[in-house]
Amino acid sequence: MKKISILGSTGSIGKQTLAVIESMPDRFAVAALAAGTNLDELTSQIARHRPDLVSVSTPALADDLAVRLRAAGLEKLPEIQHGPPGLIAVATHPDAAILVSAAVGVVGLEATYAAVRAGKQVALSNKEVLVAAGELVMAAARAANVDLLPVDSEHNAIHQCLRAGRPSEVKRLILTASGGPFRKTPLAQMAAATPEQALAHPNWRMGKRITIDSATLVNKGFEVIEAHWLFDIPPARIDVLIHPQSTVHSMVEFVDGSILAQLGPPDMRMPIQYALTYPERAASNHIALDLAKLRRLDFATVSTRRFPCLRLAREALKKKGAYSCVFNAADEVAVEAFLDRRLPFPGIAEVIERVLARAPRAKIASIADVLAADAEARRLAREEIANLAAKAAVV
Ligand code: MG
Repeated sequence: MKKISILGSTGSIGKQTLAVIESMPDRFAVAALAAGTNLDELTSQIARHRPDLVSVSTPALADDLAVRLRAAGLEKLPEIQHGPPGLIAVATHPDAAILVSAAVGVVGLEATYAAVRAGKQVALSNKEVLVAAGELVMAAARAANVDLLPVDSEHNAIHQCLRAGRPSEVKRLILTASGGPFRKTPLAQMAAATPEQALAHPNWRMGKRITIDSATLVNKGFEVIEAHWLFDIPPARIDVLIHPQSTVHSMVEFVDGSILAQLGPPDMRMPIQYALTYPERAASNHIALDLAKLRRLDFATVSTRRFPCLRLAREALKKKGAYSCVFNAADEVAVEAFLDRRLPFPGIAEVIERVLARAPRAKIASIADVLAADAEARRLAREEIANLAAKAAVV
């Protein structure tokens, strides 16, 4: 029996992780759960999975949760913590063999880093961990001899394909991208794109920010950065290909010209289960891809004019140091402004580009360095959004 801790248990990946755990009751159990503010969901998760420890974002929520659990008649309450120390306690719980890192944002970074250093196997779904602190986290993983298993469908696919050859036999990684809702929108119309249009993702149902990040291809930029750190492949050998059906989750080309692809339905339970059971494969009754029903699989190159953010991600990675972290922070602030209708859709790329140009060169030697670079990039992004709004008002 392996025990699992989850950061972000009430989010989409957290809930699907619990579904996978529930489908394998003789294999997995829950050690500890961390959630943000969704006490309704967390209360029912605690009643079902009986974790030893839980954490929420604030002391007030921790008190509220205790009241709810007593009212629900639980004979034994879990230990309840809160805030960043609570996240770290969940991530490093002594009973947990695996941490599922699925909190959204830099909030999960410090705790995930602590888990890696504590020697936990990590199923990684938090983008910020490798985008903002890839060098630091990978060095810690190597030092602790820890497996970082990607839950993201693309990296999970590449992880699977890489098992077919030696590192020296890999020619390139090919990340597939759906292209999002604006794959075919005339460029002239992109300036008027609304949050509603950008939120209508064709294949995957996800949170708001990642859906916008899929429309700009910022998300694919993150994935290039993550793939570089996870698989130790130079960025020039990581390509992106538009694949509207999202059935081929990604591919690896080997030096002999063979290309291996991993296919599956758009169901995150598959990569989650892979990460939890690795290096074994376990039977699943839930997931099946009906190949005969696939009419076609299309592939196309990415237009850099349509998707400037992908170029910006590569530039950030090339500039090294804190720039990938800056790229992430600037994007998060810009996406928020776009969703609030304070910034037009093409303004997201503009803000990122300006912040990358202005952010000071910084070295990342600790999580504190990451958080400082993140805060400064957010400040610069807010400034640039105000500048763009002032300019638009004059015109
Ligand atoms: Mg993905």
